[in-house]
Amino acid sequence: MTRIFSDYAYGPGPRMGCWWDETCEIPDRPAVQGSLTAEVAIIGAGFTGLSAALHLAKAGVDVVVLEAEFPGWGASGRNGGFCCLGGSMLDDAALDARFGASGRLEFRAAEKVSVDLVADLIDDLGLEVDRHSTGETELAHRPKDMDDLRKKAARTEENYGVSSQLIEKSDLAAAGLGGPFFGALTIPIGFGLNPLKYLTGLAAAGAASGARIYHRSPVRQLQASVRRHRLETDAGSVTAQHVIVATNGYSSEHLPAEIAGRYMPGQSNVLVTRPLSDAEIEKQGWHSDQMSYDTRHLLHYFRLMPDRRFLFGMRGGLMTGAAAESRARRRIRRDFARMFPAWARVEATHMWSGMVCLSRNRLPFVGELTPASGFWAGMCYHGNGVAMGTLAGSILADCILGRNPAIYPAAIRGRLTKFPFGRARRAIMPPAYAGLMLSDRM
Ligand SMILES: Cc1cc2nc3c(=O)[nH]c(=O)nc-3n(C[C@H](O)[C@H](O)[C@H](O)COP(=O)(O)OP(=O)(O)OC[C@H]3O[C@@H](n4cnc5c(N)ncnc54)[C@H](O)[C@@H]3O)c2cc1C
Repeated sequence: MTRIFSDYAYGPGPRMGCWWDETCEIPDRPAVQGSLTAEVAIIGAGFTGLSAALHLAKAGVDVVVLEAEFPGWGASGRNGGFCCLGGSMLDDAALDARFGASGRLEFRAAEKVSVDLVADLIDDLGLEVDRHSTGETELAHRPKDMDDLRKKAARTEENYGVSSQLIEKSDLAAAGLGGPFFGALTIPIGFGLNPLKYLTGLAAAGAASGARIYHRSPVRQLQASVRRHRLETDAGSVTAQHVIVATNGYSSEHLPAEIAGRYMPGQSNVLVTRPLSDAEIEKQGWHSDQMSYDTRHLLHYFRLMPDRRFLFGMRGGLMTGAAAESRARRRIRRDFARMFPAWARVEATHMWSGMVCLSRNRLPFVGELTPASGFWAGMCYHGNGVAMGTLAGSILADCILGRNPAIYPAAIRGRLTKFPFGRARRAIMPPAYAGLMLSDRM
């Protein structure tokens, strides 16, 4: 596999210390052996791949999922568990400029539908995923950011059909949102969950519906031919009419060649504390169970979970390797202590990192990579793929079934365009991050 970060990013190191692994058993399944055929082969068992597999299998399609490690090994089993709006880095003005107001509203509607889809799946499949939080709360990290939150509040009704709630600085303490913030905005869409429990439930439901899910089956080669694509793993192969690429931040340049240079992996880091006592919670003044994030471009996201552990995440560094991982872990610990000083000495029992994925046009891509190629992909959710990845999987299933997806905004149907510098494209990230860091400080 040809990937653009060092091997360390794709190995066990960053995942070691992931809290979710201690909360949920993942049943073992075999690796691919010998030659198999299927109507649809899916590469990657995260939210995108498993949602597609479940929706296809339920419609009676013969589907095989090939996962290099085990379901949830990638970002889907090691994220912050924010089932939330998002997926794009474009604001309303940018969406309007590219797609018109109706295109923007279509994309905003899809964000809401994606959250509803996860909620429906959890209910229909009877999953126990430790849900909490009524929507999501965005906290101003500078006084001037309240102006942006006020503007956002004024558009919430139009964008999402719900009313939002502005919380002034003087009311934060009463709302249990104690920290270095200057006010907040709550949009009542979304909820927190244990992502690995949700993912494991999706995998079980897909398998029960007939999807064949293989573990330890990395696709090494992909041979494309008219209507029959052959995927080779270490000990076998799968021939299929359609291939869904569901590898997101763990993608390889040539799987298939159509995505080479067209996606940008980026890192995100998470820390989880031991359960906090009532006295500790009182001391910091954060007792809300709202999942929250701050207004920085390089944002922090955090939530007090039902078991009273506190989860705190942030965008990761630009380098990978054991030393870079240690530096990132020191940095997240430092930021956590600065934002929640009463907990500066509370043990962070778990820390880990993983890969998100960005696109050049700052929008997710969901669809066929080139018309009539039989290669499909759902990717580039810009760090918000719990809900949008699930929706992408269901849209891909509908497209392959020849059905019109209930929602399929133009914004996520455009082609993935190339970043400059090909395999060296990570070079554009340091100046981009420096610019974002600077604007966060101004
Ligand atoms: C630390 C962190 C925190 C995050 N927090 C949030 C959050 O709170 N809310 C939110 O909405 N989003 C969050 N995200 C983003 C979200 O997790 C992702 O957008 C989403 O999980 C992507 O799902 P996916 O199925 O497309 O890809 P992934 O879950 O990354 O799955 C890709 C899979 O493909 C497999 N694979 C790769 N290559 C091959 C191959 N050649 N053969 C076989 N298998 C292969 C990998 O092993 C992997 O399991 C976070 C991400 C990270 C890393």
